[in-house]
Amino acid sequence: ISKLAVLTSGGDAPGMNPCIRSVVRTAIYNKLQVVGIRRGYQGLIEDDMYDMEARSVSNILNLGGTILKTARCLPFRSDEGMEIAYQNLKKHGIDALVVIGGDGTFTGALRFSKKFPDIAVMGVPGTIDNDLYGSTYTLGFDTATNTVIEAIDKIRDTADAHDRLFFVEVMGRDSGAIALRAGISCGAEAILLPEKATAIEDLIKNLKTGSSNKKSSSIVIVAEGDKNGGAYDIAKKVQKEVKSYDVKVTILGHLQRGGSPSAFDRILGSRLGFAAVNALLSGKSQMMVGLEANHIKITGLEEALNQHEFKLEEDLMQMAEILSI
Ligand code: ATP
Repeated sequence: ISKLAVLTSGGDAPGMNPCIRSVVRTAIYNKLQVVGIRRGYQGLIEDDMYDMEARSVSNILNLGGTILKTARCLPFRSDEGMEIAYQNLKKHGIDALVVIGGDGTFTGALRFSKKFPDIAVMGVPGTIDNDLYGSTYTLGFDTATNTVIEAIDKIRDTADAHDRLFFVEVMGRDSGAIALRAGISCGAEAILLPEKATAIEDLIKNLKTGSSNKKSSSIVIVAEGDKNGGAYDIAKKVQKEVKSYDVKVTILGHLQRGGSPSAFDRILGSRLGFAAVNALLSGKSQMMVGLEANHIKITGLEEALNQHEFKLEEDLMQMAEILSI
């Protein structure tokens, strides 16, 4: 390969910038030319790209979001869109592509590379949801979890002062990874996840027990994908039955995506970006880089996408229940 392009796609995640920096500098160190593509696959189709050099990525390690911007791009799902994207890459002499994003981004990259195998592609898992096969952690998950913890600690202060029961809704449409870790870290009385159906009656029983055990406040974490209908609905049902607490709801929303990446995400982004370029240099394509047991692991995109499923982390869930008695 001689000219490499990098893009970020799907939801933004803290750690994408350290990864972009790593990709750009590893490529330049290896005498490759580097191009940054703006707004994911959208920029590829609109030919919105620019040459990058080592100084293009100065002072971005500490920035949340992505300097390349990101987008959800409908036209890339069509054959015509992919053809235009391919012609743009050819026009600029680009023969390798690093895509940083989630499973949608990987699906697009694999389809594209099967259609046009002369463009080598390498995926880097970037999503706060931590829901990809092939990497124990995805970029942004650690920072997002820490952001949630910081917010819930503040909610705990007011919950405790007023004998309140708070339902805090966190991100995770299909994955309860953030909810579970935030729940353990903040001592939540209950954690509701998409991977496990929790009956409202059981939740109410649990909260009543907590109250009779002299708990002065309670926090229940609800992942947005929980099947009980969202934090507001659950709170309404619970307030009818649990009179000892004043029930409140907080939806954390998009603040969970922002903020300066944690040390973990900066290092993960650096390692994965470095590994992605080195994998391309060694002739690999249609793969993703990940981290497992603190070692870089390279997995075929096909395998990663096929294996993709949401598994409940039973051991962590059980521990969280025991520790919240
Ligand atoms: P997140 O996990 O944060 O949502 P993601 O990468 O899964 O990230 P998506 O919006 O699902 O986010 O996908 C990003 C982009 O990938 C889409 O906007 C689209 O351009 C492209 N994409 C997704 N699925 C396909 C597909 N089947 N074929 C071609 N392109 C696709």
